[in-house]
Amino acid sequence: MLDPALQKTLDVVLARNPGEPEFHQAVREVFDSLAVVQQRHPEYNDQGILTRLCEPERQIIFRVPWVDDKGTVQVNRGFRVEYNSALGPYKGGLRFHRSVNLGIVKFLGFEQIFKNSLTGLPIGGGKGGSDFDPHGKSDGEVMRFCQSFMSELHRHIGEYTDVPAGDIGVGAREVGYLFGQYKRLTNRYEGGVLTGKGLDWGGSLVRKEATGYGATIFAEEMLKVRGSSFDGRRVGVSGSGNVAIYAIDKVQQLGGVVVTASDSSGYIVDEDGVDLELLKQIKEVERGRIADYVDRRGGRSRFVADGSIWEVPVDVALPCATQNELHQKDAKRLVENGVIAVSEGANMPSTPEAVEVFQDARVAFGPGKAANAGGVATSALEMQQNASRDSWTFEYTEGRLTDIMRSIHQNTLETAEEFGKPGDYVVGANVAGFRKVADAMLAFGVI
Ligand code: GLU
Repeated sequence: MLDPALQKTLDVVLARNPGEPEFHQAVREVFDSLAVVQQRHPEYNDQGILTRLCEPERQIIFRVPWVDDKGTVQVNRGFRVEYNSALGPYKGGLRFHRSVNLGIVKFLGFEQIFKNSLTGLPIGGGKGGSDFDPHGKSDGEVMRFCQSFMSELHRHIGEYTDVPAGDIGVGAREVGYLFGQYKRLTNRYEGGVLTGKGLDWGGSLVRKEATGYGATIFAEEMLKVRGSSFDGRRVGVSGSGNVAIYAIDKVQQLGGVVVTASDSSGYIVDEDGVDLELLKQIKEVERGRIADYVDRRGGRSRFVADGSIWEVPVDVALPCATQNELHQKDAKRLVENGVIAVSEGANMPSTPEAVEVFQDARVAFGPGKAANAGGVATSALEMQQNASRDSWTFEYTEGRLTDIMRSIHQNTLETAEEFGKPGDYVVGANVAGFRKVADAMLAFGVI
């Protein structure tokens, strides 16, 4: 139950943004956590902080026309929500997926504000994307789409204004086409305008690995608090994109055995542990379907086309696919099977009901905005390298990422403790992320 003032603000936000369930879900979760702060720090009730925080500073929606390989004109919708710039330039990825709409971009942008704040680095929050579906498109089609997308987006972004990156459906190939078009239109080699760039043209080592590595390091920190580790643990990972692949990589480095991976067609279980090179070959190089893994791997691997990946018994779960992929019944099953920690590599993969199940069962639960912050944190490290025209070694950059993840873990844990919710990483992340942004907004006055 929220206090009446908070409830009133929430009602206004929900009424003003109808038909956006994911956005409502993300806002409601933050409000639930903030009740404890509002009581102790009435100054955060001043200056309409919460109402302003929920209203994006700017929302851009644009037409993206492009010509497919058959010569037919296609039209998609492009979005960039510049949510909050209290701590730095808007920062957040671009998602290309058929499910993208304004509500999805707003939920992601809203989460990004708190996540970016938690990194301790000077980055505000934003997100963008398009309902363009990259599946089955040729390189030429993807290029023409990206060029058209950037033909509009370029006037809104810049290294001091707004710095997009990748997300689902946007990787090094897309960032390449986007950067090329930005460079052409502006006649500027402005490396710091996009992150996730290729290593030869301003990208950072470890950026590709960062989100998956970070979510695993966060899980490792949660395990340490319980006197445990990944060593010998059975681990369930969902997804098979960039985040999942590098989560699997890091778990294996830490001695864990990852037994699952998935894509939209189903999931695989491999009792001998996922063969990462084979998975990378199929998903990253060939852009194929996950069922191929089983055909080529054989042994004790199997493909399951329906049902839930979370039925597979594991000690640690790393949901790395997409929002709301892990439901209440999945959480119950995981708990029955003895899961001890869940670290979210994706953004908001667990439904609120699932989170409640984990917390009631005292499972260590790391919410995405803390656990998956390693990706955007390393983007900020890429911006630092671009600003100083430098490039750092893998070891140095990975060391920075590890330090950042450990300090996010520490900060969320201590904040939860401070506000009387020991072990509650959701409250810890929301409150710690919120405080920095709110303090900056108070300093700036009503703008
Ligand atoms: N899309 C990633 C996220 O959800 C990374 C964003 C970035 O690097 O700017 O945090």
